[in-house]
Amino acid sequence: MKTRVVVLGAGFGGLELASALSEALGEAVDVTLIDRADAFVFGYSKLDVMFGRTTLDAVWLPYRAIAKPGVRFARETITSIDPRERRVRTDRGVHDADYLVVALGADYDLDATPGLGDGDNEFYSVSGAERMAPLVQSFSRGRAVIGVCGAPFKCPPAPSECALLLHDQLVQRGVRRDCEIELVMPFNTPVPPSPDTSAALIEAFAQRDIAFVPGRRPIALDTAQRVATLDDGSELSYDLFLGVPVHRAPDVVIESGMTENGYIPVDSATLQSRYEGVYAVGDVATVGVPKAGVFAEGAARVVARELIAKVRGEDAPSAYDGRGSCYIEFGAGRVGRVDVDFLSGPKPTGAYQAPSTELVAEKQRFGSTRRARWFGL
Ligand SMILES: Cc1cc2nc3c(=O)[nH]c(=O)nc-3n(C[C@H](O)[C@H](O)[C@H](O)COP(=O)(O)OP(=O)(O)OC[C@H]3O[C@@H](n4cnc5c(N)ncnc54)[C@H](O)[C@@H]3O)c2cc1C
Repeated sequence: MKTRVVVLGAGFGGLELASALSEALGEAVDVTLIDRADAFVFGYSKLDVMFGRTTLDAVWLPYRAIAKPGVRFARETITSIDPRERRVRTDRGVHDADYLVVALGADYDLDATPGLGDGDNEFYSVSGAERMAPLVQSFSRGRAVIGVCGAPFKCPPAPSECALLLHDQLVQRGVRRDCEIELVMPFNTPVPPSPDTSAALIEAFAQRDIAFVPGRRPIALDTAQRVATLDDGSELSYDLFLGVPVHRAPDVVIESGMTENGYIPVDSATLQSRYEGVYAVGDVATVGVPKAGVFAEGAARVVARELIAKVRGEDAPSAYDGRGSCYIEFGAGRVGRVDVDFLSGPKPTGAYQAPSTELVAEKQRFGSTRRARWFGL
């Protein structure tokens, strides 16, 4: 019988894992890739949609396009996970696995911040970014607050990118002088592992008159009065609130009993959970790396190599290195890059590359290579 690999979630991690297994093993393995959605959207595309730089149709990558030897995509909602039995139930049936890989990402807990769910106040989901688009694109007077309601959160540079892109939008529409931009986040610097990146962002904020409020987070919104309460009890009035909700593992993962402190603990070298034959990659796991697609992808490659070695009866491959490069939109048609290394040294390091048009092209290649590899598009 073929080895059965069941991959839960077809995001950055699940898509890379299924692609790598198919590439190496083809029909010799039986991969079931499960997701409740009908399409994948890159995280950074949410900003592009919100700022009107593209349309949702243009960045919507439909799972029906996946055609890979050995891989079957199942559009199903996972309702329970039994890690001991490696058995998964969905709204359509039961899947038993020899190897189970949980790649279900992080969900948003709107209720953790009273008021955040009343109306359109968050841009971290696809639907939220789409709903915020007309508000952002017509905002022309008053104060915009970009508020990060809790850590950890996906893509630590994204709120800073949001502030810089908003500045550009307002300049282009000739209304920047009538608007204030404030960025409130629980970190003391915009990108803690990379002091150079943080310094460059703080300088960019200062040049653009963007107020940076570090070490604070909004804990409640009064959407009628348009006032955000911060965790030190102070209040901040706003005319437009661009929120990053508190994150948490999906309910089905928490109910499986696999989590500790909210996420699935794994061996940082192999990504194996406490359960034999059960792995977790990406935002749903605690590995000591940030919640970002590049890290989910890197972790998925390690699990793929491990499963390929098992199927072929070869030795275990090398350990996960916790490295990844994140692109950062600086506005003015430029993109910077930070290359972070989380696991090889005593503490994380991040090398910064200044914004350039070359990095704009590199970021585009990053997206188009994944689009081709995962979807054949
Ligand atoms: C605004 C923004 C900008 C970003 N920019 C970048 C960037 O530039 N670079 C970068 O690397 N990362 C970026 N990210 C972060 C990146 O999108 C995530 O970290 C990444 O998608 C995580 O990958 P994952 O595989 O762990 O989970 P995800 O990609 O979130 O995939 C999880 C999948 O599980 C599915 N799922 C969940 N629950 C169920 C269920 N019960 N049943 C069935 N399916 C389910 C979901 O539908 C989803 O498809 C950004 C994120 C945001 C919000």
